[in-house]
Amino acid sequence: MMTRLRRWRWVILVALLLAGGAAAVLLVSSSRSNSLPPIHRWFTDPDTRRELATVMNRQPCPGAPFSLPSDGLIGLLWNDPAAPYTVFATHTGLDIFGDGAPGEVPVYAAYGGYLSRLPDWKASVIIRHDDPLQPGRTIWTYYTHMASRDGSESFVAPAFPPGTDDVWVERGALLGYQGEYAGAGRAPIGLHVHFSIVLSDAAGVFTNEAQLSNTLDPSPYFGMPLNVADLPARPIHCRR
Ligand SMILES: [Zn+2]
Repeated sequence: MMTRLRRWRWVILVALLLAGGAAAVLLVSSSRSNSLPPIHRWFTDPDTRRELATVMNRQPCPGAPFSLPSDGLIGLLWNDPAAPYTVFATHTGLDIFGDGAPGEVPVYAAYGGYLSRLPDWKASVIIRHDDPLQPGRTIWTYYTHMASRDGSESFVAPAFPPGTDDVWVERGALLGYQGEYAGAGRAPIGLHVHFSIVLSDAAGVFTNEAQLSNTLDPSPYFGMPLNVADLPARPIHCRR
């Protein structure tokens, strides 16, 4: 009799733990879906775009070295697990969703540096900088998705044809226009530009920006809360 009672006690305890775990999972997933609505609203209700967009007119936040590369909803943040990313492979930069048609919303250099475009890059450019927050270190800013949905038309500025190598650009230089090209075989997620800050390897060449550990949290460079852990409301403003 005693053992049976004890066994039941265990069954009840395990059931309670399972129920608690399920409730926690539900809570976490509903708070995560609360972070998705800005993008959802952006694409389903264009009337909300004015109140969601960060528009800086290429001015950096006070005391920050970088200016935002484009106007629009800063939808996906650095280290963001929101779809199409996951907790195992989070977003390595910023996705800025502009208000306009493909090829219309300008993309600008966030900071002065030397621009390159590899011969097979349809939609991307990368700029080499002396790190303003850690002088002497070389970092890179990477801009992509600047092509039509199927990749047939590039929206990179004509000043930077494929094969451009180490050409000086000022902060605010026009690099191209937002597009919908997500890369061969990848599903487009809507008009935007992807921006990331990329570290160099030992030889001083940019590393693979698809890996989070090769990228930097852009928050201190822009003076804005841009790390997913900051949970910023939209539109995102300068830090005070
Ligand atoms: Zn992105």
